[in-house]
Amino acid sequence: MQLKMSNPITPQAWGIQLSKLWMDCGQGFPIKVDEIAPEVTRVRFPDDPIGLIKAHGIPGIDGMLSKRKSKSDWCISYDETVTVPGRINFTLGHEFGHYLLHRKLREVFQCGQSDMLDYESAESKKLESEANTFASYLLMPINDFRDQIKGQVITLDILGHCADRYGTSFTATALKWIDFTDKAAVLIVARDDFICWSYPSELARKRGVFLPPGTPLPQLALDRLNNANGIKRQNQNRPVPRGTWHSEMEAEEAVILSDNFDQAIFLVQFPAAKRIVEHEEEEEQDSFTYLSNRAQGLNWKK
Ligand SMILES: [Zn+2]
Repeated sequence: MQLKMSNPITPQAWGIQLSKLWMDCGQGFPIKVDEIAPEVTRVRFPDDPIGLIKAHGIPGIDGMLSKRKSKSDWCISYDETVTVPGRINFTLGHEFGHYLLHRKLREVFQCGQSDMLDYESAESKKLESEANTFASYLLMPINDFRDQIKGQVITLDILGHCADRYGTSFTATALKWIDFTDKAAVLIVARDDFICWSYPSELARKRGVFLPPGTPLPQLALDRLNNANGIKRQNQNRPVPRGTWHSEMEAEEAVILSDNFDQAIFLVQFPAAKRIVEHEEEEEQDSFTYLSNRAQGLNWKK
């Protein structure tokens, strides 16, 4: 392994550099955090590498990064009972991100499902968001993702294929696509007929797609859920009229139910949305800032 490179500062740059390193070594997908993290840190940071990755059997704490003073190294541990596919690999990536970006700040990081954690401070939110961003750039390189979906209509099946390829959860994979696509789309997670959180793409944001937590689901979407009859995945992108998800735009909607049916995840796309050129000089809020602002309530790991 060619490991002698400069150390990046941002989560994105770290993720890109290390996923390239993995590819340059002839390794395929998914990128295995439990292999790359110890190897890279042993060479780059010999004074305090990641010495151990193990299951910890503590329910509710998805992942933990802790300093082992006796060994002068760091340990990543994780909840091995998490059953959602891809969650563990993403959690390991998240903890690896804390190690690379934040280990000078604290000696212990305990991380759970972000929508259940009540981060006390803005700083905690920032750290969690950065660790998620690192994991997403490490595990789902955008160039490869673009190749996978080239020329295809985005469906739940295609995103599911990408999730399998990258060893990431469906939600993390869908969020990644939303983050880099130039199309208008929004991912919506709902429970008990209300929106828990939503995440629009850049173009959808510019076209005014805004579905804050607590917004009731549109009636058409509710009808679809009520008629699902135990079908967990409605793969087809179904056209829905304007006024359903946006006052002026027609949409295409697909929905997937969580394993225990308590959450519905909608992927809504607006195929007719166009960039409005004369408004382009509006303040450009880069997606990372947006993501940081929205970190609370956003759960990449599911
Ligand atoms: Zn964390």
